Amino acid sequence: MSPSFDVVVVGAGPAGSTTARILARKGYKTAIIERRSKIGVPIHCGELLPTIPELLDIFPRSKRLQHLGNVPKEFITNKTSRTQLISPQGHAVEFKFGTNIIDRTKYDQYLAHQASDAGCEIFLQSTVLDRSETNGLKIKSKIGPNQLDARIVVGADGPSSLISKTLGNSYSSPEHDLSPSINFIMKDVECDEAVVQMYFGKDIAPGGYSWIIPKGDSMANVGFGIRRCISTPGTSLLTYLKHFISKNKIAAPQLKRAKVVSRVGAIIPVAGPVPTTSSENAVLVGDAAGHVMASNGGGIPTALSGGSIAGHVIAAHLERQTPLSTYDRIWKYEFEKELNTALSVLRIADSVMLSDSLTDVCMRFAGKQFLEPLIRCRLPAPVDFVSKTFVRAFNMIVN
Ligand SMILES: Cc1cc2nc3c(=O)[nH]c(=O)nc-3n(C[C@H](O)[C@H](O)[C@H](O)COP(=O)(O)OP(=O)(O)OC[C@H]3O[C@@H](n4cnc5c(N)ncnc54)[C@H](O)[C@@H]3O)c2cc1C
Repeated sequence: MSPSFDVVVVGAGPAGSTTARILARKGYKTAIIERRSKIGVPIHCGELLPTIPELLDIFPRSKRLQHLGNVPKEFITNKTSRTQLISPQGHAVEFKFGTNIIDRTKYDQYLAHQASDAGCEIFLQSTVLDRSETNGLKIKSKIGPNQLDARIVVGADGPSSLISKTLGNSYSSPEHDLSPSINFIMKDVECDEAVVQMYFGKDIAPGGYSWIIPKGDSMANVGFGIRRCISTPGTSLLTYLKHFISKNKIAAPQLKRAKVVSRVGAIIPVAGPVPTTSSENAVLVGDAAGHVMASNGGGIPTALSGGSIAGHVIAAHLERQTPLSTYDRIWKYEFEKELNTALSVLRIADSVMLSDSLTDVCMRFAGKQFLEPLIRCRLPAPVDFVSKTFVRAFNMIVN
């Protein structure tokens, strides 16, 4: 007979470890199955987590972010206070935005340790290959079990989630819905360490943006995400990033002495939440559920929130048969609106970013009052925007 658990979580990222911690603390027999040999390695992230006030501003109904977003100091490598959005011609729009830049590897390991300290078993180097309708899991592993049974399975297995597929989800157009991304960790970067920089343009990052995120101590995450539906066929991701690093007139001077310490490529799902995020015996959290802000690729806050909601709903289900669909109701209340707004922003950007000159004009015209709300997953008040834009356009013409 295969070992049996109340809950098996597939994936030890922030979403899965958060769910597992809550259930293990409540005394449920919980396991995490993780294909990597070391949690959080390699790291697929720009490591940016907005501060708690910013998180509550972006997701005002997700009060749990007050404690979930409280990252212990030892995992914070830098704090930034401003964000710059830089147009193809180099015009910068800057506004205040507080972030913690975190050591994602250590942070992911810390979250997983919290789950294991609470009694959760973690099986590393174990890849889930299949899930049956009755939650029999087939696993490829040399060191752990090759089969497990669970009352509830949690799909926390990231953007290419197998568990999501077993619930019937699929990407209708991967070229639109997925953003292939590369991140270099670089040293000897000469940038303002209080500022996060986001660069837009068809030649810079078609369908996405490039970033310089200062980690502190002259280190930075330098990366980008694109979308293949917009990029030039045959141009490799590395070509875009190397061109950005060596040729962009704002970025290149900051990176002229910089050296690559490590590099990773990964996928960011940017299609919004998947249609089915729970069934009678399974729940999806984090990237597996499509819980990512499509316009900026940020998914840590919603991975933590969704993971927490799932943990509490699954516990209520095991205790008193609360339906797992309660999970859908709560996450939709807490952050569906913001994720949908972010998706609308991406769609608008797609139509504008087909041309660099149009992107440039739009970014200059829109300015801080239009662009800042977009980064915060809000649409600017239209009347306010139209009237102020009119005045600005008028002033630009007469001056
Ligand atoms: C280049 C890049 C930069 C990013 N920068 C930021 C940022 O600065 N800020 C931000 O908020 N978000 C960022 N994101 C997004 C963020 O990293 C994700 O949203 C977040 O990691 C989601 O957490 P998760 O727990 O859902 O999934 P993940 O962190 O992806 O964890 C999923 C885990 O599941 C495991 N797994 C997958 N399949 C299986 C299987 N079949 N069996 C067993 N284990 C499996 C994986 O090994 C992995 O450990 C970035 C993403 C990328 C790719």
